[in-house]
Amino acid sequence: LSETGQEVHKTILLGDSGVGKTSLLVKFDTGKFQQGNFAATVGIGFTNKVVTVDDCKVKLQIWDTAGQERFRSITHAYYRDAHALLLLYDVTNKTSFDNIRAWLTEIREYAKDDVVIMLIGNKCDCNSERLIRREDGDRLAREYNVAFMETSAKMGLNVDLAFMSIARELNYRQ
Ligand code: GDP
Ligand code: MG
Repeated sequence: LSETGQEVHKTILLGDSGVGKTSLLVKFDTGKFQQGNFAATVGIGFTNKVVTVDDCKVKLQIWDTAGQERFRSITHAYYRDAHALLLLYDVTNKTSFDNIRAWLTEIREYAKDDVVIMLIGNKCDCNSERLIRREDGDRLAREYNVAFMETSAKMGLNVDLAFMSIARELNYRQ
C-alpha cells in the first residue's frame, strides 16, 4: 500500500531485448522518443505513474530492465509479485514473436494466477519491414487468453491506451 492507503500496482515490461520496452515506458512517461538503445542509460528500476480511469486514480509502479531480459536470465522473484505484465515483441523481428510462447510459459509458471497480461506488438510504424501481421499477434493472444494491442513507441500510437487498459483492468479487479 502507498502512503495514502491506495494500492500500488507493480507492472512489469517483459520481452526480448530490443523490442522497445524502454522506449514504450519513456514515451508513456515523458512523451518523448529517442532512436537508439537505452540499455546503457536506463538501469533496472521503476517509474511511478498515476493513471485516471473511470474517475479513479490508479497507481502503477512500472518496472523496466536493462539487459537482464535475455530469456531465463530474469529471476522469477522479479515477477512473482507483479500485478500486471506488458509482454512485448517487435513486429519486424520474428524471433521476438516466436519467443512469446516461452515467455508465457514462464509467466504461467511463476507469476500470480490472476496477473493481468497484455501482449504488445511494438514498432507497428515499421510497415515495410513488418514480418508479423496484426492477425498473428491477435491469434496468439486469443490462444493464451490475454489482451492484445499493437503499439508504436516512435509515433506514440496506442502507448497511453496500452497502459490505460492495464490500469482499467486492475481497477476493476480491486
Ligand atoms: P528494449 O531493449 O526492449 O528496452 O528496447 P529499446 O527501447 O532500447 O529499443 C530498441 C530499439 O528499437 C531502439 O533503437 C529504439 O529506438 C527502437 N524502437 C523502439 N520502439 C520503436 C518503435 O515503436 N518504432 C521504431 N521504428 N523503433 C522503435
Ligand atoms: Mg531496455
